[in-house]
Amino acid sequence: MHIETKLVQIGVGKEKETGAVSFPIHHATAYRHPALGESTGYDYTRTANPTRTVLEDAIAQLESGDAGFACASGMAAIQTIMALFSAGDHLVVSLDLYGGTYRLFQQILSRYGLSFSYVDLRDPEEVEKAVRENTKAILVETPTNPLMQVTDLRTIVGIAKRHEIITIVDNTFMTPFYQRPLELGADIVFHSATKYLGGHNDVLAGLIVTKGQDLSEKLKYLHNSIGAVLGPQDCWLLIRGMKTLALRMERHQENAFRVAKFLKEHPAVREVFYPGLEEHPDYAVQSAQASGYSGMVSFRIQEAWQVGTFLRNLKVISFAESLGGVESLCTYPATQTHADIPKEVRDYVGVCDRLLRLSVGIEHADDLIEDLRQALDLCLTVGRGI
Ligand SMILES: *Cc1c(COP(=O)(O)O)cnc(C)c1O
Repeated sequence: MHIETKLVQIGVGKEKETGAVSFPIHHATAYRHPALGESTGYDYTRTANPTRTVLEDAIAQLESGDAGFACASGMAAIQTIMALFSAGDHLVVSLDLYGGTYRLFQQILSRYGLSFSYVDLRDPEEVEKAVRENTKAILVETPTNPLMQVTDLRTIVGIAKRHEIITIVDNTFMTPFYQRPLELGADIVFHSATKYLGGHNDVLAGLIVTKGQDLSEKLKYLHNSIGAVLGPQDCWLLIRGMKTLALRMERHQENAFRVAKFLKEHPAVREVFYPGLEEHPDYAVQSAQASGYSGMVSFRIQEAWQVGTFLRNLKVISFAESLGGVESLCTYPATQTHADIPKEVRDYVGVCDRLLRLSVGIEHADDLIEDLRQALDLCLTVGRGI
């Protein structure tokens, strides 16, 4: 079955009693047992909830995995995965990383005895060098946020398998519509489903998918034990959003191409980062491991002072944190998503104070380009403070 069909059909035919096409929201936290030692499969909602099951089965199938887990947020998903590890364990992680993930690792999990090496995962030699005796996993974000650097997943999986460690992939930017890391040999995939999967800037959620019985059982135990599970109402919202994922992703990408090409030509723009552009250094890798390029475009404006003028004058595009929703958003990573990363580290990886990130929405591309044009033109024609 094609992924478009799988997405639309989430939950259809699962409600046997009434035939409801939209799967209901099960608010119940407790379930009656038919008799001693018997269960309907549902006992207590933290352990399992029927609405959550529909969502978890769907994401597992979409990612070609064995088990799915819905969590209260993307961060809750990462925290749950990290509970696989114990004090003394070490992980090799993408250097250009979502700020919240970096904060969790450096400020919180490091206090629990976990250690992390941040490495440019595009360089296999660097990855090999970073793997130690106590390394348990390689955690990959690809493309990275916000620089759109692409890691060759097959190469990383090869290194991980040689060292008998696992590969964990943050697939938030691509979604299973464009990229399925488990099919390339990864062991765990997770999402901030708050982004493209939800798609409407109205639900906070995280999803995990595991491959193999061992990891699936471990994650099931951790998910229930930690309890950072997604509530039934939010599961339903996510299911509702995911039904249109294919259509949305196609439009996000079509618009992103047009926006990236426009930005490239504008004199107020110095560099554009979009893995769908042939001149992007990782274009070939991206094309080999994913079926698309998604809708995230970053760019460097000419001068740092122009950032304020540009953001103040956007009309259609909202200056806001987050990404992946139908509405176009523009983020300033230096003070928003990446504020928790020290300036030296940000400058080193290239998240400088001239970098802006666009989550290109599904509005008409002409309107987005017109909005960008007028705001960028002002950066050239007027001075500071406008
Ligand atoms: C937003 C985001 C997260 C964190 O997810 P939340 O749902 O905000 O908790 C993790 N990784 C990436 C790439 C993200 O964009």
